[in-house]
Amino acid sequence: MMPIDPLPPLREVIANHGLSARKSLGQNFLLDLNLTAKIARSAGELSDCDVLEIGPGPGGLTRGLLAEGARRVLAIEKDARCLPALEEIAAAYPGQLEIINGDALEVDPLTHLTPPIRIAANLPYNVGTELLVRWLTPPRWPPFWQSLTLMFQREVAERIVAQPGGKTYGRLAILAQWRCDARIVMSLPPQAFTPPPKVSSAVVHLTALPEPRFPADPKVLERVVAMGFNQRRKMLRASLKGLGGDVEEKLRAAGIDPTARAETVSLEQFCALARIVAEG
Ligand code: SAM
Repeated sequence: MMPIDPLPPLREVIANHGLSARKSLGQNFLLDLNLTAKIARSAGELSDCDVLEIGPGPGGLTRGLLAEGARRVLAIEKDARCLPALEEIAAAYPGQLEIINGDALEVDPLTHLTPPIRIAANLPYNVGTELLVRWLTPPRWPPFWQSLTLMFQREVAERIVAQPGGKTYGRLAILAQWRCDARIVMSLPPQAFTPPPKVSSAVVHLTALPEPRFPADPKVLERVVAMGFNQRRKMLRASLKGLGGDVEEKLRAAGIDPTARAETVSLEQFCALARIVAEG
């Protein structure tokens, strides 16, 4: 296969810069540049977008994004050891790659980016979920980003795209699907990474909808959904008692059987319930 760029193979980059993977930083690197280019393609049209990449590491996905024609990439990496390798990529794509050494949970990337903005990342799973929830719950909608293309543990990816009726359906599915189209675009076995993690992974692509699928106040919806799923084995008339008032009547008004459990309630029904709760 043709190399995607004139830079050295990633194994060489890692050896040259002594980038032995650190468990504490969740470092499982993707070394196959054809694979990272494929992930970059799944992010959508990049030529008219700034891309925010979190956790570039030695730069496999960064190179994929640039080779696939990203207008600009802003890469935020916590591990300072990776910076020299990333600088080499910046030199090969003059003016197109900006690198910030910092913690993505603390850095505000917005002043560095020009819309339209897409986000792409292969992140440690705990940081990934925390960032996903932040990106899905901004103060205003539509958010600053157009799409998210994120690697997750397969089980988390399944929770994001889950439909009512199964064990994986919960708060993450509602949060993601209320205001986004969400789908799994790629599955990766542990061996795709160096070192291989214990579990399989999947890439999820989320596209921000211009408006929520059904009207609801975000805070009320979040509260109702959190209450419902915190005690998911209980019937809703019990798990939602904390809402106060006549909970059974509210559930019925939303078209929900009070003896149902949260995992059988559709997104549309949760939004209807949030509207009724908001009315008081
Ligand atoms: N993107 C590279 C790839 O695909 O090979 C590296 C992926 S590795 C799973 C995760 C990367 O995120 C590591 O380079 C790690 O140092 C970085 N990282 C971990 N926590 C971070 C944080 N809070 N902010 C920014 N980067 C972080």
